[in-house]
Amino acid sequence: MGALFGTNGVRGITNSELTPELALGLGKAIGTFYKAGSRIMVGRDIRAGGDMIVRALTSGLLSSGVQVDYAGVLPTPALQYGIRKRQYDGGVMVTASHNPAEFNGIKVLGPDGVEAEAHVEEAIEKYYFSRKFREAKWQDLNRDVAMAPGVIDEYIKEILSKVDAKRIRKRGFKVLIDGGNSVGSLASVRVAKELGCEVHEVATDLDPLFPSRPPEPTHASLEKSAALVKRFGADIGVAHDGDADRAVFIDSQGRVQFGDRSGTLLAYWCSKKSGKAKNTVITPFSSSNLVEDFLGREGIKVKWTRIGSIHVSKAMLESGAIAGFEDNGGFAYPKHQRVRDGAMTFALMLDFLASQDKSSAELFDMLPKYQTEKIKIPLTKGMDVGKILRKVKSKYKGVGKVVDTDNDGLKMVADGFWFIVRKSGTEPVLRISVEAKSRSVLYDTMRELKKLI
Ligand code: MG
Repeated sequence: MGALFGTNGVRGITNSELTPELALGLGKAIGTFYKAGSRIMVGRDIRAGGDMIVRALTSGLLSSGVQVDYAGVLPTPALQYGIRKRQYDGGVMVTASHNPAEFNGIKVLGPDGVEAEAHVEEAIEKYYFSRKFREAKWQDLNRDVAMAPGVIDEYIKEILSKVDAKRIRKRGFKVLIDGGNSVGSLASVRVAKELGCEVHEVATDLDPLFPSRPPEPTHASLEKSAALVKRFGADIGVAHDGDADRAVFIDSQGRVQFGDRSGTLLAYWCSKKSGKAKNTVITPFSSSNLVEDFLGREGIKVKWTRIGSIHVSKAMLESGAIAGFEDNGGFAYPKHQRVRDGAMTFALMLDFLASQDKSSAELFDMLPKYQTEKIKIPLTKGMDVGKILRKVKSKYKGVGKVVDTDNDGLKMVADGFWFIVRKSGTEPVLRISVEAKSRSVLYDTMRELKKLI
């Protein structure tokens, strides 16, 4: 991770940290990284300041002599799909994903739509800090930014082609879609209607201030939608984050089900769909141990990676995995594209439901039951993360086994419980997740960790 880029692009508070000046410089640096004349597609989510950042960024890109097409306001996975399908040399998404409303961000995407790898970001940072930008001659600045319409339409069509639309339509599902006032509403509502669902829309109007809930789908932020799923008698509910690469589900009993649980069910379904006996799935070490407990029984191999969607994408490519997913609700189906994709994930869930004779709650109840709690503690000045981790490690020495996280926080597995303490790569917080077989062990461990920190 460099000085500008975190685990998922550059993020900062709009117009104080992420200023037009920074966006302009980054545009020049990103453009310099690509060959002169390269075709770059730019898109954004609905966040405040997005238009300002896109214009400054685009100006920088143009000045370095690359061509820019603008796909407008759309989900990140739709832009990622468009870049690959329309054979662009790369792309940039202006989004801060799940961060609070005051943030915005800039994410660089490769020709395959996958987030830029660390070495690409390092090269871009080098251009940025050295100010050694390529400057296009005035005669070469003769192509205006062109609009790239229809990306979302193609993306939705592709999603529908990956599921058994006929079988889903026959079921006439009742679904709730919580768009969180952002771009997820643009794809998932259409996908559901095309699949013959009766749709209950919650916060599917686009609003840059996100009045309905914070952009991160969590148990707390989805409380209202979870109650509505039950009240409407919906078969399933889905909620997206700010740029809709995540999908978090609410089952028919109104229970919020996190990404490692839905990911496990969907990975099982993708494996069944593949028709092959032996498949591999990818998930980071932050996912629950239930992933391996459940999928292992089905003969599916689980490969654990570092945290960060880029590591999941890379591992999927290397091992030819059938799916990759994160506990936060990011799920990738490589037969569609090798990146997390909220609307594709939602369509796959409907596909799975239609193939079964059970309610979504019954399907989730097939998974092993562990007690989980995730919290975040704001990082304040003077907090020494290294020192905190050493303190926790020595406290649990002899009780649990340290799991290799490639220096990305501390994971300890003990008899009947495990936990992770790590510094977030996308916001200034310390994340703690604890999982246990019993509720009392969960509470005791969480209380102990909070006390230590
Ligand atoms: Mg996101």
